[in-house]
Amino acid sequence: MPELPETETIARDLHGAVGGAVIGATSVPRPDVLREVTAVEFAERTTGAQIGRVWRRAKSVILDLSTEDRLVVTPRFTGALLIELAVSTAETRAETRAETRAETRAETRAETRAETRAETRAETRAETRAETRAETRAGEPTPTSADYTAIHWQLTDGRTLRYRDVRRLGTVALMSPDRFERWTAALGPEPLDPALTAERFSGIVRVSSRAVKSILMDQRRMAGIGNIYANEALWRAKIRPTRRGTALSRAAATTLLAEIRAVLTESIALRGTSFRDYRDAFGGRGGFVARLAVYGRAGEPCTRCGAVLRSTHAIEGRSTVFCPACQR
Ligand SMILES: [Zn+2]
Repeated sequence: MPELPETETIARDLHGAVGGAVIGATSVPRPDVLREVTAVEFAERTTGAQIGRVWRRAKSVILDLSTEDRLVVTPRFTGALLIELAVSTAETRAETRAETRAETRAETRAETRAETRAETRAETRAETRAETRAETRAGEPTPTSADYTAIHWQLTDGRTLRYRDVRRLGTVALMSPDRFERWTAALGPEPLDPALTAERFSGIVRVSSRAVKSILMDQRRMAGIGNIYANEALWRAKIRPTRRGTALSRAAATTLLAEIRAVLTESIALRGTSFRDYRDAFGGRGGFVARLAVYGRAGEPCTRCGAVLRSTHAIEGRSTVFCPACQR
């Protein structure tokens, strides 16, 4: 799933590509990715809007609109925001058919969804479940057809921006300024924010008796870190992922924050880690996968000490890989 570096890459690319562009028309072939608004409201409120800054918060891409609404796109495992120069006629026909089918389902679903709006707590839980499901299905082939376009923005300059999501585990929300403030306030601090001091980070980690890995992945405590970078940062910091937060010394917490920042910064420089589905805004893959020390390497030797890396699903059912010899 796209974590901080992948989402940052998408946001930076999109800012360069569509910052300043105007949305001429919005269509929603697969409205079940929508949050907060109905498909009709979504189309009405985005059509005619100019896209301002495109940036990242946690694992979401934020598009500021001239209407003061914000588009909050959370790709999770299979979502991708893609910018294209033009759409072929075959794709357009496929989408028109999909739109017709989806139209009748759209409003009923969107209404139900509006009633049961997921707040951040529920979202965090849903995210973990979605990731776990996607990891379980990791061996499946990934179709890449335009049929998986969930939202389609026709830009007035002739280009199109589309949100494609094969399994539709990701979400697209349209938030008013008030709603956005509540959403962002419920998330933990950004690990790369210089305002996050070692002292504050230590306070976040050392008050919880949960496994340190699960604290790092909890978006309410820390934003943007998921399974890949939690595994990697803990290996770099030589901390056993199952260690309780309360059992970490202040010095260990300080080292951990430094290693989190190092791994995230290195990955951003390489445009993230591509595993299965992640693609950047131009359909490209990230280069950090070659640098992974533990994630996906269970049974292989630790590059630091040579011991065989071990894997466990003891933490939130997610795949945890660690070195039993040098992570304490
Ligand atoms: Zn080792």
